[in-house]
Amino acid sequence: MDATKKTVLIVEDEKNIVDILRFNLQRENYNTLEAYDGETGLGLAREHKPDLILLDVMLPRMIGFDVCKALRDEGDNVPIIILTAREEEEDKILGLEIGADDYITKPFSVRELMARVKANIRRSKVAAASPAPAAAPVNDSVMALAENLTLHTDSFQVFKNGSPIDLTQREYELLTFLASHPNKVYSRVDLMEQVWNYGYVGDDARTVDVTVRRLREKLEDVPAEPVYILTRRGVGYYFSNQGVSEK
Ligand code: CA
Repeated sequence: MDATKKTVLIVEDEKNIVDILRFNLQRENYNTLEAYDGETGLGLAREHKPDLILLDVMLPRMIGFDVCKALRDEGDNVPIIILTAREEEEDKILGLEIGADDYITKPFSVRELMARVKANIRRSKVAAASPAPAAAPVNDSVMALAENLTLHTDSFQVFKNGSPIDLTQREYELLTFLASHPNKVYSRVDLMEQVWNYGYVGDDARTVDVTVRRLREKLEDVPAEPVYILTRRGVGYYFSNQGVSEK
């Protein structure tokens, strides 16, 4: 395999879908790996550390959600795009809740899928420069986001009270985007465009809500009473550097 190319792991049990994905990914200059069941997919992900995973939900031997969950539990923050069937609305949200970065509905448009692959890999490229250490290097540049909350810009890590918080790529980007414009309220549409790089939203706005919820669970002392990522009801979300819960 060409090591200069990005590698996409396809985990999908429908041969014709794998064929379409492989053809289009290779045409766009990606290396591809394939697995036709969840267990093999998980093994390939651990062994080859791909740059992105396209993960079907209904798979033999181990369902996609369990593959995703296993990788996240191991601290692997590889971008994961879940492939869901159109009729399985709840699968989208469930996938995001267990740590997927994105989902796409089957049957998908190849153009849209490739755009999402590209957007997710572009984001992770930034973090790939980071060795993801447990502690920040000594010469790391440190930025205070709020009291007790610091951003180490060289290692792409966020620390709360001196301890690193394990964020996915998307959570990290959402937090740093909001924190770089404290107290400015962004709608979900704004955030989809600015953080997700999508020029459209539709029902995908729920993606923002789920990501905010996950971020709060990791960041806030009491996720139900956030002090950092706040909601302006009916408008959107903003970052407060005051560390005071909004009532
Ligand atoms: Ca399937």
